[in-house]
Amino acid sequence: MDIFTKKRLAIASIVYWLLLAYIIVALVWWFIALEKQNDRMAQYKFSELKLDDPAFQIKYQAIADEEHIKDVQYIGEGATFLIVILIASIFVYQAVRRQIRLQYQQENFMMAITHELKTPIAVAKLNLETLLKYSLSDEKKLKMLQATLQETNRLNTLVSNILVSSQLEGGRYRMAKEELELSDLVKTAVSEFRNRFPDRPWQCEVESEIDINGDPLLLQILVNNLIENAIKYSPKEAPITIKLLQKNRTILFQVIDEGPGIPGNEKKQIFEKFYRIGNETTRTTKGTGLGLYLCKKIVEDHNGQIKVTDNLPRGSNFMVSFTVKHTHEQ
Ligand code: ADP
Repeated sequence: MDIFTKKRLAIASIVYWLLLAYIIVALVWWFIALEKQNDRMAQYKFSELKLDDPAFQIKYQAIADEEHIKDVQYIGEGATFLIVILIASIFVYQAVRRQIRLQYQQENFMMAITHELKTPIAVAKLNLETLLKYSLSDEKKLKMLQATLQETNRLNTLVSNILVSSQLEGGRYRMAKEELELSDLVKTAVSEFRNRFPDRPWQCEVESEIDINGDPLLLQILVNNLIENAIKYSPKEAPITIKLLQKNRTILFQVIDEGPGIPGNEKKQIFEKFYRIGNETTRTTKGTGLGLYLCKKIVEDHNGQIKVTDNLPRGSNFMVSFTVKHTHEQ
């Protein structure tokens, strides 16, 4: 968060708590004033009583009872009012903070996305222009074409992440439910990544014939996003392990890398929309904070679960589990 946003947030919080304190002090003041008034009224009524009045005892008791009832009434009203104010103020405070955080993340997202869209287009354009203008050796041509293809792939992932998230959120995406072989989908994805990044050590432990009922496009986005993150956030020479297995009715898909891993307190937050570790100035990797949010949404739409744990000795282990309705044996 920049200093200006932090300052604005701090000022808004101080004003808010001061106002709340003022309301509570006013409430307590109102309670004390009413209590005093009640007491004075009772004292006045007692002083009006005549000792030789035959009904003195009864009247005295009636005044005391009335005072007691008023006491209880004021305490009840005051306490209810106080509780309502406290609950409402906590609710409003949390909602405002959430809103400010979301606004800040959205601004970050806009900045990141402008950059993310422009860079691959600029790189691809430059590469193509160079290929047109100069006659290069076959090796150089191949390198340039591969680099251009990589940029186009990045653009493709980014655009489908944005489109699919907005469609899923708006309820406009009609999720397909079809029986498909997850093993094939994962194997194809891994072989594409192997072609794109041939120098990486890939470890692929994918069991065959694991079927799932789901949407092929969404599941592909899920697999690609997790693998792309593993590539993005770990050193070039570090191995990436992809596992797919089924135990009874549970399908487990894992993407394990040997990067810096995810700090404990951020293991949940990284699945929030636009959330990225670190801040815009210290971050060196490109991204929008949409990938894992979308992964979580896709997994949940398939009634599954996603979580991240530490990989030992270093790195992270993203685990997705789905429960299937029917096993092969049935
Ligand atoms: P993006 O990669 O576009 O920033 P994601 O939603 O995919 O957005 O990831 C959110 C954040 O989680 C990333 O900014 C990064 O800090 C962290 N992260 C995701 N995957 C990994 C990983 N494999 N290793 C380390 N950090 C990761």
